[in-house]
Amino acid sequence: MMRLDGKVALITGAASGIGKSIAETYAKAGAAIAIADLNQAGADAAAAEIVAAGGKAIGIAMDVTNEAAVDKGTDLAVEKLGGLDIMISNAGIQIVKPIVEFAFADWRKMLAIHMDGAFLTTRAAMRHMYKDKKGGSIIYMGSVHSHEASKLKAPYVAAKHGLLGLARVAAKEGAEYNVRVNVICPGFVRTPLVEKQIPEQAAQFGITEEQVIKTIMLKETVDGIFTTVEDVAQTALFLASFPSAALTGQSITVSHGWHMQ
Ligand code: NAD
Repeated sequence: MMRLDGKVALITGAASGIGKSIAETYAKAGAAIAIADLNQAGADAAAAEIVAAGGKAIGIAMDVTNEAAVDKGTDLAVEKLGGLDIMISNAGIQIVKPIVEFAFADWRKMLAIHMDGAFLTTRAAMRHMYKDKKGGSIIYMGSVHSHEASKLKAPYVAAKHGLLGLARVAAKEGAEYNVRVNVICPGFVRTPLVEKQIPEQAAQFGITEEQVIKTIMLKETVDGIFTTVEDVAQTALFLASFPSAALTGQSITVSHGWHMQ
């Protein structure tokens, strides 16, 4: 079994969905977890669940678009948990609209959470991981939308594509300090982020929710099955526990064949 004993992981957006599942999986593999989320009560509750199951975790209030909050929250995780070996930039939201109806403020909000958040968490993590060339693993939650496009998702697709570029630069700069940087690209996973989109897309396209699932979300998969939070968490465990820079600057797609690289 892949293990993370003695490692410390900070996971953003881990009060819910994919991030929460990664936190639980990492804790079971022996890591201490900082659950960083805009939703502080949710972060504290997720941390308490891990502690109740015998693991080590703390909740941290963090808005990933806020430079000071990211730096302070990262320092707090290092101080309370004794270091930082893994940073997962996972926090995200979705806003679906055709480009002509997209408010500029919403475009900027999307780019701030997905791109500014990735930059700020990477910078904060590197500043710790570079010390004594201790190194570590940085993982971005990309998407099949890091490689493919869909209607109504201009800022999401632009930001998720952007993560690939950031990961490649960070992988090159981080290498001499033993920092690896990779991107996980999930297909549709039934988290609150996706549940919200189903009725929204049905209304935009004038189709039923069932049709959104069958003809849009799962249409290109090989088996018509949703990816699960556990599928993504296992991939995150594989990437974090991988022993060398043979795997850096890469993206791994977990999508039931929707996208094939
Ligand atoms: P989710 O809504 O279940 O969880 C997202 C979490 O991010 C929430 O806890 C929320 O409070 C937090 N968050 C939002 N804005 C934040 C901010 N500014 N600062 C800190 N935390 C913030 O969503 P999810 O589906 O688990 O999504 C997690 C990531 O996975 C996102 O980056 C998303 O784009 C990506 N992703 C999701 C899917 C999917 O189908 N669900 C597919 C591919 C990629």
